[in-house]
Amino acid sequence: MSEEMKELKKKLLATEKNGYDTISEADTAAMEDYCASYKSFLNNGKTERECAGEAMRLAELSGFVPYHRGMNVKPGDKIYSCNRDKGVMLAVIGTESLARGAQIAAAHIDSPRLDLKPNPLYEEGELAYFKTHYYGGLRKYQWVTIPLELHGVVALRSGEVVRVSLGAKEGESQFVITDLLPHLGGEQGKKPLNEAITGESLNILLGSQPMGESDDTDRTRLQIMKLLNEKYGITEDDFTSAELEAVPAGKAVDIGLDRSLIGSYGHDDRVCGYAALHAILELAHPTKTAVCMLADKEEIGSMGVTGMQSAAFDTFMHDLCEGQGVLLRECYENSFCLSADVTAAFDPNFADVFEKKNAARVNHGMGLCKYTGARGKSGASDACAETVAYIRRVLDKAGVIWQIAELGKVDAGGGGTVAMYMANRNIETLDAGVPVLSMHAPFEVVAKLDCYMTYKGCKAVFEAE
Ligand code: MN
Ligand code: MN
Repeated sequence: MSEEMKELKKKLLATEKNGYDTISEADTAAMEDYCASYKSFLNNGKTERECAGEAMRLAELSGFVPYHRGMNVKPGDKIYSCNRDKGVMLAVIGTESLARGAQIAAAHIDSPRLDLKPNPLYEEGELAYFKTHYYGGLRKYQWVTIPLELHGVVALRSGEVVRVSLGAKEGESQFVITDLLPHLGGEQGKKPLNEAITGESLNILLGSQPMGESDDTDRTRLQIMKLLNEKYGITEDDFTSAELEAVPAGKAVDIGLDRSLIGSYGHDDRVCGYAALHAILELAHPTKTAVCMLADKEEIGSMGVTGMQSAAFDTFMHDLCEGQGVLLRECYENSFCLSADVTAAFDPNFADVFEKKNAARVNHGMGLCKYTGARGKSGASDACAETVAYIRRVLDKAGVIWQIAELGKVDAGGGGTVAMYMANRNIETLDAGVPVLSMHAPFEVVAKLDCYMTYKGCKAVFEAE
């Protein structure tokens, strides 16, 4: 190739680089510390409630205080507000008025799991079980024969809320959903992957030891209820007003001989939630007000009082605006939101569902998605070209390694995030997040470099002017 052509190529053609080719030494060192703190966040938060609690604990350690309507806030103040124990909104007040807009990062802290039904407990074949109703888009066959923990709350008639955590502590017993042995699995094996394990067969094994005499009834069920009553003071009726979630057991671990990846339950979307949280906790004196939204219910459509469609976010922002004599609509129209959510990482094992030129790559940095959606971008918040240009400027200035991608091949499937709900509020919004392998599986994999770069990306957004 002639020198002239080489020059021209460098100038005109885009180059795709592995993040390890460009990451600085300082970032490489900081990445490890960051990922260690992220893993402990994952281990302390297996449900949206636990993540919200952990986020507030960390926020208070960083000087954030609970916000109350009418509270006098000034530039540099760090505040947070909790939505029904399941979502958290944090803000660092900027030196500029909210009329100039806020810099927002919105992620979700709910993850796919198995919720207990309102009448969950039963006994069959002398074994005791909990019936479940899966939450979010999960592949049912992945949730059998893996150890499970049970987390959540039981709200008693009295108003008291009992926190439940079973199976997470060292040495504590865990739970499991059984599957057929191969010897008898012939017919099951012929079924399509998504039909071999049905929703109604996702029943959690609780115990096997009967109580009483051989001619008694409900012996195993009663034994389980007795144990739960001893530990938590609850009766079977109390399941009526409970939110108990079965989640994969185990802790976040490094994956690979080079330890470059992290395997864990719940990367979607705690990996972005933690990135946004960590970034706002470090923020000192931003020009514009920085807002970190950790939402619930994204996995089932962002509905309900704790989802991104809830007015809880608008109320929080409205209260802040009111304190400055600013109209909420004026704040929104000048705001920017990074919809921080995971994207699919190109998986060579399943290359045919990806379009190589537009797939997010592991270790290529934070993955921007101009749009998500399915079947011709349906349901997507398609960010304006100008918005993408703005973020290119912000990320490049801050030395963030990033890539732009789509979630899979055209018509191969698709997905959505909270982006559309932010954009519907008249806030310029762009999707960006960590590429994930085995997304929505009980054990998902992400690259440390991408986690760290997503944190840097959130920080850059918060600090942008
Ligand atoms: Mn997500
Ligand atoms: Mn998801």
